[in-house]
Amino acid sequence: MRVDKFLHDMNMGTRTQIRKMIKDKLIFVNDTVVKTGRVKVDPVVDEVRLKDQVIEYQQYFYFMMNKPLGVLTATEDRKQKTVMDLFNKVDLRNDLFPVGRLDKDTQGLLLITNNGQLAHDLLAPERHVDKTYEAVVTGKITDQAVEEFQKGITLRDGTTLKPAQLIIEHYSELDDQTVVKVVLKEGKYHQVRRMFGSLGEKVVTLRRTSFGPLELDVGLLPGTYRELTDDEINRLV
Ligand code: URA
Repeated sequence: MRVDKFLHDMNMGTRTQIRKMIKDKLIFVNDTVVKTGRVKVDPVVDEVRLKDQVIEYQQYFYFMMNKPLGVLTATEDRKQKTVMDLFNKVDLRNDLFPVGRLDKDTQGLLLITNNGQLAHDLLAPERHVDKTYEAVVTGKITDQAVEEFQKGITLRDGTTLKPAQLIIEHYSELDDQTVVKVVLKEGKYHQVRRMFGSLGEKVVTLRRTSFGPLELDVGLLPGTYRELTDDEINRLV
């Protein structure tokens, strides 16, 4: 790959800034000063430096975000704030995208990466990646609903869903609301909301707490993110 692409991929600056770094003789490949961005480098073998700083090449990036309420799961939007707008400049790259979708009014675990193949595999229906949601739902959710979820609910529009696990955590008589957990093996549009809608109830709050092998980091406040650990990446790929 060209050295200027290497530097750009590693977020070392805009194309203009990188051209200036090269012109100012600040970039070295294997101790030789780089005179043009067209110089070819092999990221595995060659050592690229900005002055004394060795720049390691990283092909894929993986972030766990605790998506807050009120932002879109999208890479860009002309009017509304997206999850990518929550990234710091140093981490932001234009090839990053969210894997799957959480509604604007859903919080919780969102994986953001530039690994398209992994995203494709995780979202493939046949892969059945488990997703866990915590929800507060109107009304008293009963064991009958647990059985219906287990058998596979039919939504109001006739869509039949795969069996899902419903766990009743707590019913508050005062609020007439139930706290539940739902584990899904698929990810249809507004799925959790529509599942409770088919029971005649409404989802008051919804938060995703796991996605495949990833568990939402309780230390991440809504709107913040961190890179996945090596262990998390190994469990994912
Ligand atoms: N189900 C929903 O209804 N909304 C989400 O954001 C995710 C699952």
